[in-house]
Amino acid sequence: MSLVGLLGGSFDPIHHGHLIAATAAAEALGLDELRLVPAVEQPLKAGRHAASAGQRADMVALAIGGRDGFTLERCELDRPGPSYTVDTLRLLHERDPGADFVVLLGADAAAELPHWREPDEVLRLARVAVFGRPGAPQVDDPAVWRRFAVPALEISATAIRERVATGRSIRYWVPDAVSDYIARHSLYLSHV
Ligand code: ATP
Ligand code: MG
Repeated sequence: MSLVGLLGGSFDPIHHGHLIAATAAAEALGLDELRLVPAVEQPLKAGRHAASAGQRADMVALAIGGRDGFTLERCELDRPGPSYTVDTLRLLHERDPGADFVVLLGADAAAELPHWREPDEVLRLARVAVFGRPGAPQVDDPAVWRRFAVPALEISATAIRERVATGRSIRYWVPDAVSDYIARHSLYLSHV
């Protein structure tokens, strides 16, 4: 059985906080593969995405480049939102019955798990592994399979959007290919 980690998010835009967490997960859990899963519409952020789903996915692809073992999972892009993890897991199991899936969640996202659609079914279809995120309290949930450490980076996509909108540099906050894309497509200029 291959062990596949899923890091979902709105990735509006993807940044080094996501990438360092993904790398730490792959190492700590011994993942065979790590998939980044951009949501068409994150249910708890309905109507509040700044870049389009296609642009957010483009930036994920640019950020991971050709890195071995990291892939862009496009399945949520192929159906209309809101993007529920339970639907994604059903589809991934159907597509890949030989895989064992681990949903990777920062502590802020893990705290929201009870508010997801069919949380019990999510826990039946996948393991859940949680990592710390600066500013978010530790999650104390017995449903969590594993916890692992991630170097603390106080970076958020919200802060990046604010920096762009106020004319500040985002160099080193995101991979260069992502900041080039943001500039080329005039993203986040008015979104605070
Ligand atoms: P926004 O500010 O728009 O909410 P974000 O930076 O929080 O964006 P998301 O797409 O909401 O990014 O997060 C997706 C996943 O990545 C979540 O599990 C979240 O906990 C995790 N994550 C995001 N930023 C970091 C970070 N700096 N360190 C560790 N985990 C992170
Ligand atoms: Mg967030």
